[in-house]
Amino acid sequence: MLVDPPAPVPGNGAALILQVALDAPLRRVFDYRLPEPRDAAPPPRPGVRIEVPFGRQRLIGILIAVASASEVPQSKLRQALAILDTEPVFDAVTFGLLLWAADYYHHPIGEVFAAALPASLRAGHAAQPTKSFWAPTVSGRAELERPASRRGPQLRALLAWLSEPGRQPQARIPKPFTPAQLRTLAARGWIEALPVEPASPDAAPAVAILDLSAAQTEALGQVSATLGRFQAHLLYGVTGSGKTEVYLRIIAKVVALGGQALVLVPEIALTPQLVARFEERFGVGVAVLHSGLAGIERRDAWRAAHSGAAHIVIGTRSAVFTSLPRLALIIVDEEHDASYKQHEGFRYSARDLAVLRAQRAGVPIVLGSATPSLESMENAAQQRYTMLLLPQRAGAGQVPRMTLIDLKKHACEQGLSQPVLLSIGQHLASGGQVIVFLNRRGYAPTLFCHQCGWVAACAHCDARMTLHQRAAELRCHHCGARSEVPQACAHCAAPLSPVGQGTERVEETLMRLFPEAPLVRLDRDTAAARGGLDAVLAQVHSGAARFLVGTQMLTKGHHFPDVSLVVILDADQGLFATDYRATERLAQTIIQVSGRAGRASRPGEVMIQTEFPDHPLLQRLIHAGYDGFAASALQERREASWPPYMRLALLRAEAREPPRLDEFLRAASARAATLGASGMVTDNGIRVLGPASALIARRADHYRAHLLIESKDRGALQRFLARWVPEIESLELATSMRWSLDVDPLEVD
Ligand code: ADP
Ligand code: ZN
Ligand code: ZN
Repeated sequence: MLVDPPAPVPGNGAALILQVALDAPLRRVFDYRLPEPRDAAPPPRPGVRIEVPFGRQRLIGILIAVASASEVPQSKLRQALAILDTEPVFDAVTFGLLLWAADYYHHPIGEVFAAALPASLRAGHAAQPTKSFWAPTVSGRAELERPASRRGPQLRALLAWLSEPGRQPQARIPKPFTPAQLRTLAARGWIEALPVEPASPDAAPAVAILDLSAAQTEALGQVSATLGRFQAHLLYGVTGSGKTEVYLRIIAKVVALGGQALVLVPEIALTPQLVARFEERFGVGVAVLHSGLAGIERRDAWRAAHSGAAHIVIGTRSAVFTSLPRLALIIVDEEHDASYKQHEGFRYSARDLAVLRAQRAGVPIVLGSATPSLESMENAAQQRYTMLLLPQRAGAGQVPRMTLIDLKKHACEQGLSQPVLLSIGQHLASGGQVIVFLNRRGYAPTLFCHQCGWVAACAHCDARMTLHQRAAELRCHHCGARSEVPQACAHCAAPLSPVGQGTERVEETLMRLFPEAPLVRLDRDTAAARGGLDAVLAQVHSGAARFLVGTQMLTKGHHFPDVSLVVILDADQGLFATDYRATERLAQTIIQVSGRAGRASRPGEVMIQTEFPDHPLLQRLIHAGYDGFAASALQERREASWPPYMRLALLRAEAREPPRLDEFLRAASARAATLGASGMVTDNGIRVLGPASALIARRADHYRAHLLIESKDRGALQRFLARWVPEIESLELATSMRWSLDVDPLEVD
């Protein structure tokens, strides 16, 4: 069904059928007749928005193709209400990419297109910017350089006025200028209307340009050499090695050539410094796109990209679908980051789609990271990607020294070992900042009765409640349930005690032990407070805060120049997790958090607390770095047949009643068997495993389980899924059950 859109069929317009993708959970397009009257208008082009009747509603969808016939009988075909655009709202490559993605992820096409377009455009707002800004053209600027002639001094004065920055004469041009003069200037080709305020050459403040290191120069040269054709590059450089500087230089070339660059980042809110650096270097030609923007801002940024006015688009995951008619370069910063994968609904990987987009657009892509994903390391090893290394920190930065602290050998005070406490004292005394990392928010993960062993559990999940002391609440981190903190054990009335450490508790302990050192906490709880994140970051940057306690949020691209000590409180959480990706995550986290230390002139120190200092993963990380870890982790993946040596898909389902859940997954598995796939590797190379319970078997009152589908051959897996998904949809239970298919899942859970 979803092949490349056929060329519109010329001829009798009335016979044409519009195939429209609507934001509905159905894996199909909907047929409509053309709206009337059409006269001699050419048929609409695929990619335009169409307003149609749907049941009793009016919906706005995307035209996928124009066909000459429909399977729906003529009498039942409804007529579209309006065609909203003359030009497609996506560039041709993005349109094709979306069709491909709907196919590959086996997701309803209407939801795929809805995910790609800002809400205001889905609601029908114009795709093109409406405001116009007049700006002098090159010949207009040349005219100003010429000596003034006696003719038309007014025109020349207007031209001069327009070339000053900050003019918006469409709103109002001052007397004695007239609109007629504007038209004359435009007719002479001296000015043009632009959809956004023009970037004046001096809009960007002067930035001192650094001398690139040899490695940076090499990386820049390699990428530059591929401008104009597809090539994927893996820019693998330790934190602070100058990756961003390389991005900025390549982008400068792209912009100078008149192209557009797309920059994907994991999370905008956490990377304000990166955005600031781009704006500082490039001025107003930068459009920022992320879900935190208000509707109008988002629409305007999208329009600026679509119209070509924005040279650079920086955005999160969904920005991979931004319409960019002059796309010339894609950058994916922190390419290993899990947030590039959408975790619900349309479960695409923005990183993977970015590579495909670059390939289809015939442009280079740079995947940057200090800890590349194992997939990308393997792609580089197979020479599908070029490997660009930045092995040293830029400027005077030094790589920190890492030590493992054996928790079995040292006494602890609330989870903080003696050597760590000693070191913290020394670093604070010598004016350093200290980061304490713990990937668990709240006060304590368990509230426990020592008398009878009772534990506060969530009533809706197979999980414990986390104690949040500050809010005086128990919270479930899986379903969001909250309850009061019980005064005593529900069983035996003995007093309860919090067991284990969360960031809140570490904060409390450190404030007690180091009362002189101002401390801030960065986790989802403090960031959720209004302005919380900005306030925390400001205190760290200004140096007012000497201590920073936080979770995963700390690992994302901040530059804290004074940090000299990083403490990782519990490396062990990830060491024995069941998921095949857990060790990769742990290694990345350790390296990323460590990267916050010793960024400028201060040498840094990293202390990792563990009960298992001899664990091979930790040993390899310490002694062979991320490289060494990646090599052996890939070896393990190969031996155990996990990605990237195996292709996976996961059918997840959940239900209130366990028997129904089991029945559904067994039925789906039986259908797979009729297609020749079973628990054994079969002729078609597909294996179906399960049903297996999720790690947290019950969440928010729903039982959860899955089937795992694996194949060494991506094509075979795709062919199988294309036949299997309709079979699942036809199951009676499928309609009354929450289920989803995850292609290339990041977690098998
Ligand atoms: P990364 O993106 O790899 O973390 P950045 O590009 O942010 O690294 O560089 C880290 C720091 O080093 C920044 O403050 C940057 O200005 C500086 N820097 C980058 N390249 C150079 C260079 N060639 N010479 C001196 N300083 C540099
Ligand atoms: Zn008890
Ligand atoms: Zn819960």
